[in-house]
Order: sequence, then C-alpha cells, then structure tokens
Amino acid sequence: MAGLLAARVLADAYDEVVVVDRDELTGSDARRGVPQGRHVHGLLARGQQILETLFPGFTGRAVAAGVPTGDLGELRWFFNGRPLRRASTGLICVSASRPLLEAQVRDAVAALPGVRLRGGCDIVGPVATEDRDRVTGVRVRPRDAATDEVIHADLVVDATGRGSRTPVWLAELGYQRPAETRIPIDLAYTTRHYRLRDESILHGDLSINPVSTPSHPRGAFFSRIQDGRSVLSLTGVLGDHPPADERGFLDFVRSLPVPDIFEVIRDAEPLDDPVSFRYPASVRRHYERLDRFPAGLLVLGDALCSFNPVYGQGMTVAALEALTLREHLRAGPVPRPAAFFRDAARVVDVPWDISAGGDLSFPGVVGPRPPKVRMANAYMARLQAAAVRDGAVTRTFMRVAGLVDPPTHLMRPGMVWRVLTQSRGVAPVPVRPTERAVAGD
Ligand SMILES: Cc1cc2nc3c(=O)[nH]c(=O)nc-3n(C[C@H](O)[C@H](O)[C@H](O)COP(=O)(O)OP(=O)(O)OC[C@H]3O[C@@H](n4cnc5c(N)ncnc54)[C@H](O)[C@@H]3O)c2cc1C
Repeated sequence: MAGLLAARVLADAYDEVVVVDRDELTGSDARRGVPQGRHVHGLLARGQQILETLFPGFTGRAVAAGVPTGDLGELRWFFNGRPLRRASTGLICVSASRPLLEAQVRDAVAALPGVRLRGGCDIVGPVATEDRDRVTGVRVRPRDAATDEVIHADLVVDATGRGSRTPVWLAELGYQRPAETRIPIDLAYTTRHYRLRDESILHGDLSINPVSTPSHPRGAFFSRIQDGRSVLSLTGVLGDHPPADERGFLDFVRSLPVPDIFEVIRDAEPLDDPVSFRYPASVRRHYERLDRFPAGLLVLGDALCSFNPVYGQGMTVAALEALTLREHLRAGPVPRPAAFFRDAARVVDVPWDISAGGDLSFPGVVGPRPPKVRMANAYMARLQAAAVRDGAVTRTFMRVAGLVDPPTHLMRPGMVWRVLTQSRGVAPVPVRPTERAVAGD
C-alpha cells in the first residue's frame, strides 16, 4: 500500500514510475508478500479521506464493488467490556478486505500515465555511485531469470514493509543504521471468514469490535465485508495468542468480554480455516536522526514505522507519508532525505504516541513510561468510560483515533469536563468467568 501510494504522487513528478514487487500484482486475493492481508484491515477515517483525494471516486467505486460502508461512530465498539454510546461522526468506514482495498488502489495507480507494475521481481539491493553518496537504482531478480537486472532511477523509494533491508544496505554502503524504538507487545491475530445465514442477527451493524484493553486484554474485530462475507479477527497480547484450531478458536471467541460475536458466528458458515499472524513488536526506525544518508533514496510505510495493528493505523500513515512526499516533490524531483525524514517523523509522532503509548498501559509491556504517557493512559481510560454515556465523547474520540483531528481536541476544556463528569461511576465490566478460566486465575 505504501509503495502504491508513493507511486501515485511520484507519477505527478516523473515521466516513468516503476513499482517492483516480488509477488505477481493481480487479482484481489491475499498474496504471499502481504501475509497480514488475510486479517481485518480497518481503514481509518483520515485514510479514507486521503484515498478519496488521491483517487477521486474511490469510495463510490468500493461501494460499486460491493463493499459495505457505515459511520465510524455507529459501529458496535466495546472498551473494557462496555459499549460506547453511538454517535454520528460523518466519518466513513469502508469495510473491505485488505486485498480488495489494495486491488482498488493498484488498479487506479496502474491506470496512471507512466506507471508500470513489475510483479514477480525480487529487489536484491541498491545500486550506488562509486563514492556511495547517491543511490542510482536497484538490482532486481525477476522470478524466472538466473541473473540480476539493474533498474536505474533518479529516486528509489523503499516501501518493502517491516522486513525492509535498508538498514543493512546502509551499513554495506558505509553508513550508520538508524536507531530503532521497539515496543514489544507479543500480539497475534487469528482470523476466519464466514457467511452469515441470516444477516438480521447483526441488527444492521457493520461491525462488532470489543477492543483489547488492560482490564480485558482479549479482543476481536468482526466486520461485514464485500461479497456477503464477514471476517473475524481475534487478537491476543503478551503471548495469549488466539488458537488456530477449531475448538481453541471458538473457546477464545467465547472468552471475549462480550458475547455478541459468539452469538453472531455460532450459526454462521465458516468459509476457511483460522489463520494466525504473529506480531512481536511495534518498530520505529529513526532515519530522521542520521547525520548522513545517501541522496536518491527514501523510506516509507511499515519500513519506516510499523504500528501495533490493533489501532488500524498502518495504511493511513502510509497515505499521510505519501502526502509528505508530494510536498517534498514540489521543491524538485529528488527530495532531500534529511528534510523528508524530518517531516515524515512529524507525521509518525501522533499515531506512534497513540499506539505505542496505548500499549504501555498494559502492565506487562516493557518500555519507558514517562509521566506524560502515564497521565495520557489514565485520561484515556476515563475517556473510554465517559464515552459509554456521552456520544459527544465518542465522536471526539473517533475523530482523534481516526487521525482526522489532533489529540489536543481530547484536552479541550469542554471535553475534559465531559470526561471527568461522565466517567464517574463507570467501572470496567468484571472479567467474565470464561475469560478468567482461560487466563488461569
Ligand atoms: C495482522 C495485521 C493487521 C493489520 N491491520 C491493519 C488495519 O486494520 N489497518 C491498517 O491501516 N493497517 C493494518 N495493518 C498494517 C498494514 O498492513 C500496513 O501498515 C500497510 O500495509 C502498509 O505497509 P507497507 O505497504 O509499508 O508494507 P506491506 O503492506 O507489508 O507491503 C510490502 C510489499 O513489499 C513487497 N516486498 C517486500 N520485500 C520485497 C523485496 N525484497 N522485493 C520485492 N518486493 C518486496 C511485498 O511483497 C509487499 O507487497 C495490519 C498489519 C497486520 C500485521
């Protein structure tokens, strides 16, 4: 997604843009290079807005492809086992599978003049000038070729995801590797698709989301998606991973803080076997702190920062970074890496504070907890409690979590007053016996 969105803005500045991927880039099924694509991928509101700007008519085309949509504040959200008060936010939730979302973006990018997709091609390494000051292309190995080929380029953008090898390549070229911040969450998703026998059981709801919190660490995302299918991703943190065997999967569903999802899937037709994905840690690579970096190379998307997926930020941050790239391309076709990374770091700061900071509210997560983080987490717990009663709190929360408004909106005097007064007496729902049995206490 980051690569496609970068290609979209590069196409405005360059006559020729080549998107290289090791997978064949066709169809709308999950593919090997993006194993996370089988799991629920919520597109945050800001991401939907940017996709609509970059590809006018994007949402309409998704709807035409059978993707259900709804208001983000009208979904069935649960925090600490309690339902949030619903609120109309005007923010659109486009409830597509990740492969379909990607296919829609890819088709739009492939249709741009000058853009070429080269699937089935492994990127092996960068090509640089003799003095190694500038990257001038990449070496690639096409799937059925015995030898490498060089693609020359004025600008190379690494969007190869969290497994990015730029740190290694930098070291090979005689540069420092970027410092990394890691927040170990030891998370796993386990996902299964269903067809509901009778959709009226959802009472018109697009999705049911009991979100993992310290008081109820087991979470889930259940969504209707395209083609009359539904997807259920279970989430377990700190090693409490949702099993992929039939029985264990259902036991985990039963142990969620609310019974809503079990009631919906118990008579549904499973369309596949459960599949798991492990996510050990959020990782932020601080390219903005490096003194030296070769010209002609940039890094974005998960390669720059990979967020705990429970917060649904990755695709939207990739879209925000593409806008940053667009700004920098206005000054010339080869942005200065230091300036780009400085601005990209500003883009990453807020979502990083939300997700990495949020993870530190789990006592078992190892990491520094300065007073700012502790106070923010205490306030967020109160805010989630207040949102159980007050739709205005839900609305503001959704706008900030959706990266539409800055977090300062949560601290406006009227909001603080609502949070403090409305949260009084709203305690987390006690842990259900099933949860306790599984947690072993
Ligand atoms: C379980 C899970 C759930 C998630 N849920 C959400 C969500 O709800 N909302 C959200 O916004 N984000 C979510 N994310 C994050 C999201 O998947 C990514 O942030 C987003 O896809 C942007 O990543 P990317 O494009 O940088 O990398 P990726 O999507 O990982 O793509 C990297 C691409 O690079 C290719 N590639 C890698 N190495 C090479 C190479 N050497 N040569 C050629 N090609 C190569 C791969 O084939 C792939 O196509 C989730 C992630 C996980 C793990």
